[in-house]
Amino acid sequence: MARGQEEAIVYKGRIRMPYNWAVGETGSFFLNKIKDDCQIWATKCTECEKVFLPPRRNCPYCFFPPTNWIQLSGNGVLTNYTKVHYHEPALHSQDPPFIYGMFRLDGADTSLVHLLGEIDETDLQEGIRVEPVFNEERTGHIKDIKYFRPESLSHKEGS
Ligand SMILES: [Zn+2]
Repeated sequence: MARGQEEAIVYKGRIRMPYNWAVGETGSFFLNKIKDDCQIWATKCTECEKVFLPPRRNCPYCFFPPTNWIQLSGNGVLTNYTKVHYHEPALHSQDPPFIYGMFRLDGADTSLVHLLGEIDETDLQEGIRVEPVFNEERTGHIKDIKYFRPESLSHKEGS
């Protein structure tokens, strides 16, 4: 028998591997600003002036240290999205279906992946303006941002 003609045998298994992961100085500053102040901060390269969100300590284009912190408004644009129809283990509290989006916040050159909420699916399209919604109780996790929602919803609440 020639190599590669055998029926492949596949065993199913599951590995549970709890671990701790230090987010570092940059990640800690970013998450603490969300937790303590409901603010979203990005880093800006001092050489090429690209603005990174999620923040990066060093610019991946010119490797020029350091980057500086800048505060963003938190509002921006939905650049892409996908609807998830299955249970996602990383999002224990999120029942499917739900929507992941890529959000280019005003002033940033990169996009942040997060959840999109409070949206009528007839309004779902790339390019809509969004704003962050923060959880009342925050723990220093990216999920302290509950999700992004269409920007016009806050205007409706205020009127
Ligand atoms: Zn740069």
